[in-house]
Amino acid sequence: MEEYAEEPSQSARSLDAATPPAPLREALPYAEVAINGTYGGDRRITLTYEIPARLRGRIDRGQLIWAPLKQKLVLGVIVATHAQEPDFAARPIHAPVEPEFRLSPHQLTLAAWMAERYCCSLFEAALPMLPPGASRRSVVHLVTTGAPPPLSDLSPKARRLLGFLEERGETSLTAVQEAFGSSLVTVVPHLERLGLIERVARVVHEVPRAREERWVRILPAALGTEEPTALVGPRSPRQAAVLELLRRQARIGKHEVRETKAEGERVAWLRDEENSLPEVEAVAPLPLGDVYRLTEANRAILRSLEEKGFIEVFGAPGRTEPKALRPRRYESPPPLTAEQGEVWETVARSLQARRFAPFLLHGVTGSGKTEIYLRAAGATARAGRQTLVLVPEIALTSQIVARFANRFPGKVAILHSGLKDAERYAQWELVRRGERPIVIGPRSALFAPAPDIGLIILDEEHESSYKQAAPDPRYDARTVAEELARLNAATLILGSATPDIGTRWRAEGGQIGLLELHGRVGPATGGARGAIPLELPGVVAVDMRQELRSGHTGPFSRALIALLQETLAAKEQTILFLNRRGLSTFVQCHACGGVFSCPRCDIPYVYHGDRETLICHRCNGRENRPRQCQTCGSSEISYFGAGTQRIEREVQALLPKARVMRWDQDAISAKVDAGQLLARVQDHEVDVIVGTQMVAKGLDLPLVTSIGVINADTMLNLPDFRAGERTFQLLTQVAGRAGRRGPGGRVILQSYTPEHYAVNAALTHDYADFYREELDFRRTHRYPPFSRLVRFVYRHADETVCMREGDKLARQVAIVAQHLGLEDLDIMGPTPCFAAKMRDLYQWQLIIRSNELDTVMRHLPIPYGWTVDVDPVSML
Ligand code: ADP
Ligand code: ZN
Ligand code: ZN
Repeated sequence: MEEYAEEPSQSARSLDAATPPAPLREALPYAEVAINGTYGGDRRITLTYEIPARLRGRIDRGQLIWAPLKQKLVLGVIVATHAQEPDFAARPIHAPVEPEFRLSPHQLTLAAWMAERYCCSLFEAALPMLPPGASRRSVVHLVTTGAPPPLSDLSPKARRLLGFLEERGETSLTAVQEAFGSSLVTVVPHLERLGLIERVARVVHEVPRAREERWVRILPAALGTEEPTALVGPRSPRQAAVLELLRRQARIGKHEVRETKAEGERVAWLRDEENSLPEVEAVAPLPLGDVYRLTEANRAILRSLEEKGFIEVFGAPGRTEPKALRPRRYESPPPLTAEQGEVWETVARSLQARRFAPFLLHGVTGSGKTEIYLRAAGATARAGRQTLVLVPEIALTSQIVARFANRFPGKVAILHSGLKDAERYAQWELVRRGERPIVIGPRSALFAPAPDIGLIILDEEHESSYKQAAPDPRYDARTVAEELARLNAATLILGSATPDIGTRWRAEGGQIGLLELHGRVGPATGGARGAIPLELPGVVAVDMRQELRSGHTGPFSRALIALLQETLAAKEQTILFLNRRGLSTFVQCHACGGVFSCPRCDIPYVYHGDRETLICHRCNGRENRPRQCQTCGSSEISYFGAGTQRIEREVQALLPKARVMRWDQDAISAKVDAGQLLARVQDHEVDVIVGTQMVAKGLDLPLVTSIGVINADTMLNLPDFRAGERTFQLLTQVAGRAGRRGPGGRVILQSYTPEHYAVNAALTHDYADFYREELDFRRTHRYPPFSRLVRFVYRHADETVCMREGDKLARQVAIVAQHLGLEDLDIMGPTPCFAAKMRDLYQWQLIIRSNELDTVMRHLPIPYGWTVDVDPVSML
């Protein structure tokens, strides 16, 4: 029989009155707490604390609290409360974090599951679920307890402090210190010991409440061929002017709208395009204020237009919210193509069933996957549940955010680390209140506090950024999403054009549902007329060995040079893709052959010409351009290889008339963001884009008709069993950038090993082919999905220590395996990591491979100093 305590009066302190406090358990005196910080090396441990009488009944499972640990206060999460007296004097919990926060039962379960699976502490697993800034932004406040002061032994200062707090109420320690002009180091602890004052740790947010703004949009009734004056009559010129303005906005086009500064920062103009889709309504709304500003309209005029059904005024996120959430144009859903219709039927049925169901949605770029996501999110919202939309990297995926924001104005929240703290907290809070049924973000958006998750979408599910590389929890968002969907009885959609081999394998095995889209929905061919497969770009490989043999040196093959010239002549755009930024890949002394290397990592520096600097691409260490060799003093220094800056120069030399733009990490700075680079490309201010990975992903660039990959093999030769998969994915993705708007896109892959199946399959866009070969390779070498791996890494300034610790761990693993009677276990290493040294520390790794990994890990004590990466995505 469970008893519930009275609703505690203190919970009124919680800032949010909208959420009713959870019914509390009996006022139990002890709590098991997962604390922040390793304790005695055992990550699984929880500590027992006493719940002080004043907090009993107020503190419950999942709650975030402050607890004393040695001399400090640390954050902790209550895992359980109980009445079992420990055989030591338990220290009392200090205070709940204010405003109060509790992990939901699902979150607590998920955290425990993650801690087990990824070998981290429960607190680490819970960390991404805490309110943004919870661990950083706590501020200590002082408050009187109300106990009567002993008159005798109080110093004047202590008495003054008490009086001050009685008068002012709870005050932050810093404010008190300021008022007293003193740090109060002895007085405060003294009064605390006497039980006269208390410290309260509060999470402080200066949060501007997310405010809605009024927007105006034109409705189809006013979009016909009739002149505005004819619609509203000659006697209402001001109404006609409003319609005129809105119609200018409403030119139906498929281009993303960009904002121009000229008309005032916030006016979004659509550009038209010939092949527009009459079936798709695309109307850019304007902020109400802009309509007033740009016309002579007033409220009455707008109201009468509204009454006539010509316009609509609606609320949507305004200035105080992240810019990405502003609707740029109104989009009504297009009728689905036949193929989409079939996929949709399955998804809709699953959503309706409210049962856990995972799917792989496999379709080439442009096949209409996002349209499925949009529908599914809409249906989920209508059912009163929330959707989490995960994208690989928010900075590169503004287009998908825009599509959700356009389709569901005012219903979308975004959560990512690029937001200002207050903005992020405001978004988080809107999600928690259930006011934003759609949440978009990177992998960490999985831990958004959505109250009833009905759908989880991972776009580009094969991306390596779905795995957290560091710090703990080193989780894989795909796997965690599946567990979260299971807990919530939700639908999971993993979408990709080039699915992870493991995901596709599971789909083939029937462990997850398989949904496929084969055609491409071209804007010129889609809509009511259905999907007519749009030609994928033609991809050819150039064998660079042949080029060399025929005496043609230099970074561009003859075919690529021709492609560049033809594309420029046709006034279209080319992307040259390169895996390396910088001007040259290494710098060498001509006299003694010495290569300039980073002393902390022992790898060659990369020369960056724009800042005349040598940069270590591993630790970001920098040195000025060398004037002479450090070893022999010679000033004959050569630069070899080709980075983005070098290619940029070469293109300029080759095509003096071309406007060349570099798009890599170096091109992005405090003043220039990716959005500006994108706008320059979209506005055809450049002809050739020289870029790294950053341009390969997710961008829809209509004028780009040709692509050159300078060296398709750069990743192929890395010592990682995923090298082939990464190469195929990247090449396919790069190739997908060409010809998105029409047929005739062309791609050239320059390669020294064009016969490799990863390159070969990319030539023909043949996932099936690649999948077959890659799966064979994985099976033969017993790599995932035919086994699971754990990677242990040890770092130390002394390499022999790494070696010794590695041997010790290997022995330990062997003992555990023997003890468990496991035959299915391989130990690889210890060996130096691919990045053998970084920032003065040597790095060694040990890899274990098994199909019974969970059992092994449960029994393996992990010695101090090792980082553990379960199911690693990169072996480098
Ligand atoms: P993916 O996510 O697979 O890359 P999208 O959903 O972005 O594909 O679709 C590609 C393009 O086709 C987009 O411009 C989208 O607006 C359009 N589109 C998708 N489905 C339809 C449809 N049923 N009718 C008309 N246009 C569509
Ligand atoms: Zn030298
Ligand atoms: Zn370095």
